[in-house]
Amino acid sequence: MKRERNAKAGTEAKSQLKVNVASKTIQCKVCFQTFMCTSKIPELTQHADNKHSKTLQECFPGHGEKENDGKADNKTNVKANGKK
Ligand SMILES: [Zn+2]
Repeated sequence: MKRERNAKAGTEAKSQLKVNVASKTIQCKVCFQTFMCTSKIPELTQHADNKHSKTLQECFPGHGEKENDGKADNKTNVKANGKK
């Protein structure tokens, strides 16, 4: 009984790992190519443009240039203040 339980726990841990990996990648909606979550917007834009002649939003919905509206900076400031 104990051994069976251990085996099951191992499988669950593995599937959890897979989910984590998937959430850390950005997938092109058109060709399903995956990119690391650390990929920069210009890289994704280049892929959309070169491969599909589409916009960033068409290939990677939700990956707009949100970093430019200043909200990201506010979050960073709050975190820094909390530490001090
Ligand atoms: Zn693509």
